[in-house]
Amino acid sequence: MTLLTSADCLKKYGSPESEKAMTLWDVPKELEIGVIPKRLYCNRDMIKPLSVAFQNLIKTGLIKELKTFDGCFNIRRKKGGSTPSLHSWGVAIDVNAAWNGFDKKPILSAGFVKCFSDAGFDWGGHWATPDGMHFQLKKEGIA
Ligand SMILES: [Zn+2]
Repeated sequence: MTLLTSADCLKKYGSPESEKAMTLWDVPKELEIGVIPKRLYCNRDMIKPLSVAFQNLIKTGLIKELKTFDGCFNIRRKKGGSTPSLHSWGVAIDVNAAWNGFDKKPILSAGFVKCFSDAGFDWGGHWATPDGMHFQLKKEGIA
């Protein structure tokens, strides 16, 4: 599995500071789900996969597992790293951070994770140093 990298994002979107690909997404009424902002500042390439992920959560009833929205766009370095976080381009979203901390064993259910992976996201919970709150666009998601 090849993950999307900050180099890929830099190449496609330019510097994070330019916010070139960022957009204020008016989340459609039928996809408004409690803790997610009604207007979400995110990368335009996130709109379609996020819509599918939200639909999957609603369809499966797993929406009840979504407790908190913990950010999308944030220009910063990767946790424990020196390269920019994909949040710098708004192509990642953090949820349920309080229970799925960096380098902690994630407690999101497999079904919940599947709602996102089926929609085009890679989950940080599988990584050597787990980041269970973190979902990021698959590499092909920005092609
Ligand atoms: Zn994250």
